[in-house]
Amino acid sequence: MNPGFGSPDNDKVWLDPDIYYVCRRCTACCRWPGDVRLGEEEIPRIAAYLAMTEEDFIQCFTRLRTDRKGLSLLEKENHECVMLENGGCRIHEVKPSQCAGFPNRWNFEGWRNVCEAVPVPMAEALAKGLVQKQGSKES
Ligand code: SF4
Repeated sequence: MNPGFGSPDNDKVWLDPDIYYVCRRCTACCRWPGDVRLGEEEIPRIAAYLAMTEEDFIQCFTRLRTDRKGLSLLEKENHECVMLENGGCRIHEVKPSQCAGFPNRWNFEGWRNVCEAVPVPMAEALAKGLVQKQGSKES
């Protein structure tokens, strides 16, 4: 039973501990308007991956979050994430935990209508090594 929608900050709780949704890389979650939150520890990791200084990365690719409590990745005019390139995530290997956590750690009402992730029993997903840690190659 899904106890709720969680939060993009959630990296602790499985919303449904019995089911794991395996990402099909549909990139729907990269094309919704809104913040892509960056944790403080994620900034140096992503900057290093892009071979940039943290200052340059912040200057070129981030803005204040709508709640002004941290940074978000920029979005393009069409609301896609600035890191979405050629149908994939430019920083997939080091993408923010908000991205890695969707839809298993957080989601929203009606998310199944727009996301192509495939439900797999959690035990099977664990046995097959499909379950990845937050902040790593989850999707
Ligand atoms: S950082 Fe990558 S996974 Fe996250 S929204 Fe942007 S393109 Fe998608």
